Amino acid sequence: MKKILVANRGEIAMRVLRSCKDAGIKTVAVFSEADRNAPFVKFADEAVCIGPPASSESYLKMDTLIEVSKNLDVDGIHPGYGFLSENAEFAKLVTNAGITFIGPMPDAINTMGNKLAAKEAVSKYDIPLVPGTDKAIVDVSEALEVAKGIGFPILIKASAGGGGKGMRTVEREEDLEEQLTMAMNEAKSAFGDGSVFIERYITDPRHIEFQVLADSHGNVVHLFERECSIQRRHQKVVEEAPSAVLTPELREVMGKCACDVARSCDYLGAGTVEFILENNTNFYFLEMNTRLQVEHPVTEMITGVDLVKEQIKIARGEAISFSQEDLRITGHSIEVRVYAEDPMNNFLPDIGTLEKYVQPTGEGVRVDDGFEEGMEIPIYYDPMISKLITYGSTRNEAIARMTDAIDGYKIEGVKTTMPFCKYAINHDAFVSGNFDTHFVQKYFSPEILDGHDSEEEKMAAILVGKILDEYKGENTYANNGEAISKWKLNRL
Ligand code: ADP
Repeated sequence: MKKILVANRGEIAMRVLRSCKDAGIKTVAVFSEADRNAPFVKFADEAVCIGPPASSESYLKMDTLIEVSKNLDVDGIHPGYGFLSENAEFAKLVTNAGITFIGPMPDAINTMGNKLAAKEAVSKYDIPLVPGTDKAIVDVSEALEVAKGIGFPILIKASAGGGGKGMRTVEREEDLEEQLTMAMNEAKSAFGDGSVFIERYITDPRHIEFQVLADSHGNVVHLFERECSIQRRHQKVVEEAPSAVLTPELREVMGKCACDVARSCDYLGAGTVEFILENNTNFYFLEMNTRLQVEHPVTEMITGVDLVKEQIKIARGEAISFSQEDLRITGHSIEVRVYAEDPMNNFLPDIGTLEKYVQPTGEGVRVDDGFEEGMEIPIYYDPMISKLITYGSTRNEAIARMTDAIDGYKIEGVKTTMPFCKYAINHDAFVSGNFDTHFVQKYFSPEILDGHDSEEEKMAAILVGKILDEYKGENTYANNGEAISKWKLNRL
């Protein structure tokens, strides 16, 4: 492979281009009019504007991408994540054009892109599934029978769902019919496929996923797990590797299952097998993501493997150059996703200009980003600014380095998820390793970040305290920021 086109934007385009350059491969970036000044456009050897800002008119234009590739003698296309990365039709078109798709075969993408088809595929292997239905639910009475069998609460899931969308929890039998109808209608309009199924709702689960690599010579390995339980809206925001709770024995069993999931669909390339873990012991297969994952850097940090380079080697037909036994976990890594979102306002996107943008530096700090100071966060795409990753010889060291790195990351002009992430990784539950996917609901409310006051906020808090004193006719609040902050915290 001599020239690779990256069919993506932002930090992941930069990430892929870097590995291509390292490997001495020429690169082509494609960009929308909104991304004209983005670093990935300048970083590539060649860059082509493929249309207006809306993804449907640029990054999702399959024919344009193939045409550009042909014109520029591209022989490999890397899709990154999102956009066309899990689109079997695109993978087919690329291959038919005589270009290598750096990813799995279309059949594997199709099978794993549908949660019910995925359950069916893995049934050849001994892979634990969440108790529930393995076929689309078509009528309410059937659903009721299943739900009664597994016990409430249950989760209705859209078979074609993804990105945390298309799920509904049902607590009580009497709500089932209404919720089921709504779920089917939603699935039809959002994903074009109304199939839904039922799973037992695991009340306090952890999200544990395994990185796998599979080559065209029949080799399949796993590169251990990532813990992704800190989520908002069923979407990850803090990830780490390894998980604080997996024993070596459980890691081995889950890792073997992950490899079997890859085998079940003749997987090729880098993929991720997601599990849900109950009581730190029972695990169930959720789904497989047939692409490079946002959180792949934590795996790279603890294994020393460049996953993009491995993807390219596998796509070239080479065998994976190491065996399962060669792989070791060394140290600990944490990633926080720096989204232009306001944690004080329900994590709603906060679009604007990066008036100040200074990345942190230091031992064990990695920043995967795609922005520079002065740039706008476009409204057209996912509002992720960057991924901040730290590495330490121990988990505590990785946490301490992340705390420092967050303090050293200067972003002004938009609100970001960083204050939340700093709070989360220093929370007792996270530090002790005793947390689950409900971390945000259990421990977070916006006022908490208010408690970590700046000087002005402390003054404002003192004033509020004084006003309340007068109102209540008592003077119970000490006249300093600390005490007021505690008062504010105690009220939560
Ligand atoms: P998506 O494809 O939308 O990402 P997943 O099936 O991967 O959907 O699930 C996303 C998240 O939803 C999981 O990480 C977990 O937090 C939650 N979840 C999924 N299935 C269950 C379940 N059966 N019980 C409890 N939580 C679940």
